[in-house]
Amino acid sequence: MLKVGLTGGIGSGKTTVSRIFMLLGIPVFNADIAAKTIMNEDEALKKAIIRHFGTKAYTRGAPDRNYIASLVFENEENLATLNSLVHPAVIQSAKNWMQQQNAPYIIKEAALIFESGSQEELDLVIGVYAPKHLRVQRTMQRDGTDRESVIKRMNNQINEEMKMKLCDFVLYNDEQRLLIPQVLSLHEYLLLQSPKISNQFS
Ligand code: ATP
Repeated sequence: MLKVGLTGGIGSGKTTVSRIFMLLGIPVFNADIAAKTIMNEDEALKKAIIRHFGTKAYTRGAPDRNYIASLVFENEENLATLNSLVHPAVIQSAKNWMQQQNAPYIIKEAALIFESGSQEELDLVIGVYAPKHLRVQRTMQRDGTDRESVIKRMNNQINEEMKMKLCDFVLYNDEQRLLIPQVLSLHEYLLLQSPKISNQFS
C-alpha cells in the first residue's frame, strides 16, 4: 500500500483536499486531530507536557490550548520542545493506523511533514499550495481570528515555496486553477502507482 503525505501551510487547503480524497474512497489520517486526541488521552505525554510547561498546561485533565499556544507561538524553544514531545507519538499513531488500512493508497495529512521528519515513513508527499495573502484571508475567516495571530503562526512554519520544492507533487489551490480536476488526475496516477491488486484472471 502506497503511503502518501499531504502537506502545506496554514490555510493552504489540506483539509479541503483531504475531503476530496475521502470522497474518492481513500482513507485519510489527520495528524492535527490525532495530536489533539493524543494530548487529551496519553497519560505519559500529559505528564511530560506538565513537567516542561507547568500545571497550567492542563485544566481538569484537558490541555489548555490557549495557555500552551501563548507559550509556544512566541518562543521557538518552547515550540521545539512541544513538537519533540508530540510528534513521535503522532508518527507512531499514524503507523498503527496505516497497518489497519486496506486501500490502494492512504493519505497522511500533516502541516509539518518535513519539519517532523515523518517523510521518512512515506513513499511520496503532495503539497497544497496557495499564496500567502489567500492563506491569511482564509484562515482569518475560518477561525474568526486577526491577521497578526495568523501571521505569527505562519512564521513558525518553513517557507511555503521551499516546502513545495520538497514535495513530489503540488496541487495549486490558488483560485486560478480548478482544484478538483487536479486531485482527480493525481488520484488516477496514484492508483496506477500503488502495488497492483492481484487480478484473479492473470
Ligand atoms: P490548517 O493547516 O490551518 O488546518 P488547511 O490547510 O487544512 O488549514 P483548509 O482548512 O482546508 O486548510 O482551508 C482553509 C479555509 O479555506 C477553509 O475554511 C476552507 O473552506 C477554505 N478554502 C480552502 N480552499 C478554498 C478555495 N479554493 N476557495 C475558497 N475557500 C477555500
